[in-house]
Amino acid sequence: MTFGLPILVFTLIFSCNDVSGCPAPSLLNPKSLTLDKLAQDVAWPGFAGLVNWQASIAVVAYYALTFVFYGVLPAQIVEGGPLPNSGVKLTYRFNSESLRWHLSPCRLTSDTGFTTSMAFLAILGVGTAVYGASFPVYTFIWDNYIQIISANMLIAFGLATYVYVNSFSIRPGKPTVPPHRELAAGGISGSVIYDWFMGRELNPPVWIPGLGYVEIKTYMELRPGMTGWMILAIAFAAKQYQNYGRFTDAMLLVTAGELMYILDAHWNESSILQQIDITTDGFGFMLAFGDLAWLPFVYSLQGRYLAVHPVNLGVFGVVGVLTVQGLGYYIFRASNGQKTVFRMQPNDPSVRNLSYIQTKHGSKLLTSGWWGAARHINYLGDWIMSWSWSLPTGIAGYVIQDSFPFRSNAGLAKDKASLIRNDQSLTGGKEVMPGDARGWGMVITYFYLLYFAVLLIHRERRDDEKCQRKYGKDWDEYKRQVPSRIVPGIY
Ligand code: NDP
Repeated sequence: MTFGLPILVFTLIFSCNDVSGCPAPSLLNPKSLTLDKLAQDVAWPGFAGLVNWQASIAVVAYYALTFVFYGVLPAQIVEGGPLPNSGVKLTYRFNSESLRWHLSPCRLTSDTGFTTSMAFLAILGVGTAVYGASFPVYTFIWDNYIQIISANMLIAFGLATYVYVNSFSIRPGKPTVPPHRELAAGGISGSVIYDWFMGRELNPPVWIPGLGYVEIKTYMELRPGMTGWMILAIAFAAKQYQNYGRFTDAMLLVTAGELMYILDAHWNESSILQQIDITTDGFGFMLAFGDLAWLPFVYSLQGRYLAVHPVNLGVFGVVGVLTVQGLGYYIFRASNGQKTVFRMQPNDPSVRNLSYIQTKHGSKLLTSGWWGAARHINYLGDWIMSWSWSLPTGIAGYVIQDSFPFRSNAGLAKDKASLIRNDQSLTGGKEVMPGDARGWGMVITYFYLLYFAVLLIHRERRDDEKCQRKYGKDWDEYKRQVPSRIVPGIY
């Protein structure tokens, strides 16, 4: 997985490009496939070309800027859950104080934590106002995309190695610097590779100049990667505008949907303190790579596709996608919100009358409302939402060729007609059309929702094991009362 995951990310990115097509045409003709042809089709820069100084410096500067915002923007201090061994509650700084809104009737949030993303949006807003779609941040991202990915992967490798080595400074019975550092139960097998991958330390600190020790796992969970995804989503929309002089409805839907998801996560930032990643998992390569490389570059594949191949959905398509998105978001937000309110403000009128099991451990488990419908109904909402980011790419796939080669092939003529109708053309005398690639691009643009289904099914089982260990017979009783895992009555 350590080497397979980076290769998979690069495969998804290289095979869908603005040079030859999506997927690259030679991949569709395995019989005549040669390495040279493939390298040409995917614009392979050579191993040395996977990195460059400009991208590496820009990525490091970007991380530094996230730390600056973290340090200077107004913040509130939030208490985390008790640490597994000592029971001590660590405190976390979330940039939120200035935006502490209470939307009680909507139960949207208790606190907000997205001033950093607002600061980045403000920078992008000013840059766009001055330079339009050619704002150098956008063009730099597009032109150095591969090298930006490599730089983030290298940071993930470096960070995972640093926290692994540093975790050996935790010694039984000795005070740690800073205090209250703990090892993660799942990352102390003794196998170097396994522990490096899973994460030996639960709450690893990293010394940041001017800030002191920052608990880096919580920081990485929602900061550079998630905010980076937001910047990528906007840069891809700008690229479509640069290519075609307009935004298609599909691009607007994908970008708005992703931004909503990201800002929602930042708005509810402190709720990650309850998540299994924070309370139980160690911080190793799995989380570092997931947060910094996998999430921003795999979750944004659809926008990158639409930047090159514009899709027009029309009124019915837009309404359909919005319905899917609205349904998913409603289930996702309402169920997560209900649990948060129930746990933090049990006397709130919206949850006061819900039935629950009082566990011997002390916590209460809801058995009605959303959490009485399925044990992870929130995952269902999240997964439904993921459809709304892939559906706008339609029956995906395109080939790129020189403008209007006027071949007599009937299929091409049809493509050409649709091309003219949709006003599709790339600058530089190139045309983008479905051609033989039609449908094959879905392997890339629908990858996210397939992967996400696997992630959520696996995550539910991990959480089930965790709760079984924690609650024992009370968890058996909850499972008896709420038999469905994710989809009520089906799974
Ligand atoms: P959940 O929000 O699903 O919380 C699970 C925990 O809630 C359990 O461990 C238990 O913790 C508590 N719990 C379980 N059942 C009940 C109940 N009936 N009543 C009250 N509390 C209960 O955790 P996740 O971190 O997995 O997910 C949070 C959100 O993040 C989800 O919407 C998910 O879809 C999303 N997510 C998105 C990802 C992405 O890549 N886009 C990745 C991962 C998650 P306790 O020990 O406190 O009782």
